[in-house]
Amino acid sequence: MHQGSFQEEKSMNRQEKLGILANEEGFDSVDAMIESASTDGVVPGICVNDGCDFTTEVEDDTRDGHCEYCETKTVQSCLILAEVTE
Ligand SMILES: [Zn+2]
Repeated sequence: MHQGSFQEEKSMNRQEKLGILANEEGFDSVDAMIESASTDGVVPGICVNDGCDFTTEVEDDTRDGHCEYCETKTVQSCLILAEVTE
């Protein structure tokens, strides 16, 4: 475990968001979440804005879901974040 430095790397952000989301949803790992999500039409999603960890259930191909905190279309499904779904 290490505290996040103030980096603005988007690719690193994706992995962090997946980790946060898996933790929020009670999965042991990102892989377990992806495996579970890939058999379901409704999957966990998370806002990808820096500093916002809003999570909600979204459709598996959601990449512009509404974030209730940011009021922007920045919620992506875990499958999109993991690039499982095209
Ligand atoms: Zn947000």
